[in-house]
Amino acid sequence: TKEQGRNHYQFYNPNLSSEAALLLRLESLLHQGLEKKQFFLHYQPQINLKTKKVVGMEALLRWEHPSLGIINPQKFIPLAEKTDLILHLGKWVLQTACEQNISWQKDGLPPISIGVNLSAREVQQPNLAEVVARVLNDTGLDPQWLELELTEMSLRQHLTQARKSLRDLKNLGVRIALDDFGTGFSSLGYLQQFSFRTLKLHQAFIRDLRGTSEELGIISAALAISKGFNMRIVAEGVETEEQLKILSNLNCEEIQGYCFSRPLPVKEATVFLQNAARG
Ligand code: C2E
Ligand code: CA
Ligand code: CA
Repeated sequence: TKEQGRNHYQFYNPNLSSEAALLLRLESLLHQGLEKKQFFLHYQPQINLKTKKVVGMEALLRWEHPSLGIINPQKFIPLAEKTDLILHLGKWVLQTACEQNISWQKDGLPPISIGVNLSAREVQQPNLAEVVARVLNDTGLDPQWLELELTEMSLRQHLTQARKSLRDLKNLGVRIALDDFGTGFSSLGYLQQFSFRTLKLHQAFIRDLRGTSEELGIISAALAISKGFNMRIVAEGVETEEQLKILSNLNCEEIQGYCFSRPLPVKEATVFLQNAARG
């Protein structure tokens, strides 16, 4: 994909041994980062246009290294994925996001779902459902308020294991979202087979939205598919009022994007929820 291309541009070195050396160094930096609490989460609201309510928050991982500064997840996650570290990092995200959601509920805010991204490695982990169950148990979060976001790519490899993971997760009662919907190869049969709770329409369909009939046709088709399968659909990357209006006219109900809010540090996310709850 384009994103991956960009990452490789940053870190890839045609000299294999130096790539290996860089990976090793990065792995130790990531390890230290976890120990030294350099990771934190930002939260981006998902809004229902009809009710004007916040329906969820997506947790997005951030890494602030003391000398390297803030490092974009699209740079370090693909690298972390090459090592087992992604499993520790993923577990930390899951735990932290669930704790945060419970803490909002305890503050008396209306319950919302927390979206947590899973990497391919996590989806292929045979004990994924156990890890998730333990976190739910430790935090006391009701499974219905956890939505795990995974991409088609993570389901394509090791299909048997991925299928089993998904079945186990569904049995726990957590929601599953298909991230970046529309960019992969999802056939209708595939969507039906996995019965996602949510489709997250990829930003690419929104980014340059001008309202041409072709664009509208594609989005309408995606909306119709979600309806047909009784899945909710969230449009991602909605930045402008104009895009919002187009989506609203197409009856796309749920929106995530800069037009409502950027991903926010926890304090600001809390204020956002408090203001939304006041109406
Ligand atoms: P994603 O899951 O598709 O997340 C949405 C990305 O779009 C986020 O980038 C978000 O900040 C950005 N975004 C949201 N609204 C807008 C908008 O209106 N306009 C534009 N241009 N962008 C918008 P971010 O936070 O840099 O994350 C990038 C990717 O890194 C995520 O894409 C996800 O694949 C991955 N990621 C982030 N956190 C985690 C994590 O905890 N675990 C894993 N495995 N992956 C993560
Ligand atoms: Ca996501
Ligand atoms: Ca996405």
